[in-house]
Amino acid sequence: MNGNLAKPAEAVIARCRKLASFSEDAGGTHRTFLSPPMHDCHREVSSWMKARGMNVSVDAVGNLRGFYSAAASGAPRLLIGSHLDTVPNAGAFDGILGVVLAVGLVELLEGMRLPFGIEVVGFSEEEGVRFGVPFIGSRALVDRVDEELLGRKDEHGISVRKAIQDFGLNPSEISKAALNDDVLGYIEFHIEQGPVLESLGWPLGVVEAIVGQNRLEFTFSGQSNHAGTTPMKLRHDALAAAAEWIVAVETLARRTAGIVATVGFVEAKPGAMNVIAGEARATLDIRHASDGARTEALDELIRLAESIAARRGVTVKWRTLLAQRAVAMDPFLTEQIDHAVQKAGCEPHRMASGAGHDAMVLAEKIPAAMIFLRTPGGISHDPAESVHLDDVAKALECGHHLLTQLAASQEFLGRTCRA
Ligand SMILES: [Zn+2]
Repeated sequence: MNGNLAKPAEAVIARCRKLASFSEDAGGTHRTFLSPPMHDCHREVSSWMKARGMNVSVDAVGNLRGFYSAAASGAPRLLIGSHLDTVPNAGAFDGILGVVLAVGLVELLEGMRLPFGIEVVGFSEEEGVRFGVPFIGSRALVDRVDEELLGRKDEHGISVRKAIQDFGLNPSEISKAALNDDVLGYIEFHIEQGPVLESLGWPLGVVEAIVGQNRLEFTFSGQSNHAGTTPMKLRHDALAAAAEWIVAVETLARRTAGIVATVGFVEAKPGAMNVIAGEARATLDIRHASDGARTEALDELIRLAESIAARRGVTVKWRTLLAQRAVAMDPFLTEQIDHAVQKAGCEPHRMASGAGHDAMVLAEKIPAAMIFLRTPGGISHDPAESVHLDDVAKALECGHHLLTQLAASQEFLGRTCRA
């Protein structure tokens, strides 16, 4: 590795910007699962991979996979990657950066072979935009693409199965995309998409866990009535009950370390200016890296909803829309990343990811770990999304140290895989 990483870092950023131009919308970045511009994206990334002697293929769910062989044949492999799909009106770095950095790390090896192969994976689908289901790409690697998923339709009535065929792939070969037992682990670089690293002044973060989350819908039911003739003390105002609870959600989350809780949607019925609301619906999204802490906070918020409702003479019901456990990153890989971040001259700040990532899915079957890059302004899913050149250089340096460490680690090379 050449000591100065400014040039390779500049190349990484330029490549991300180039990929951002392959879009369903002129002038913006919008590249959903198996959309026509994904072909252009694959062609471009493949050309970089092939220039380094990597063996490139596209699996049956459209994941781009480039293999850089090990020093010896039959050696195990390490996966490094992220996703190539985007949200509408996207920035250039969410997901894409992780794939481009992975190619950059192979380039930094300058032809040197390691005791393990490196498979760079550009996942076809992570954002869940086209079919309303996220992680289709990584699910295929853990053998979790089922008939129900294949039958799902996009807004034009095209099923996942048909989309795969239209892209020139064969849905009957999806099982071949699944990981074999020669995989040592998965490493993902990703922008933080939040303000934490920036507020701390650190370029890189070491992800310890991906938070678990619950999504619920609460319905407060009272009595709608005339806003002019019903005295205040005789009211059963469902919206006022919901409002008191919403503030209680915020208060509890603010005084409980690590909890983030959000009421992002409210609806009052009948919804007229001069009518007391008889019903109010409010959603709750609550997340924490610890399942215990999350469950405890959620139980408390349910108790609060019940007591607020009872005091106001209204009732409350709730239903769960999503319950997802926290996913711990692999402790060995995470510790190795700590060392690599330190060697790159940075503080190894441990943090939880508040958003889901491909690493969360792969962690079901193989050791997985993540490194975050500082996100200027915390802005993501927006054309203003950016990265600092120095941070990208630090990420390359950290990644290179990590590969060197892992190549020298008997503990790593001797790991047996659960896939
Ligand atoms: Zn992403």
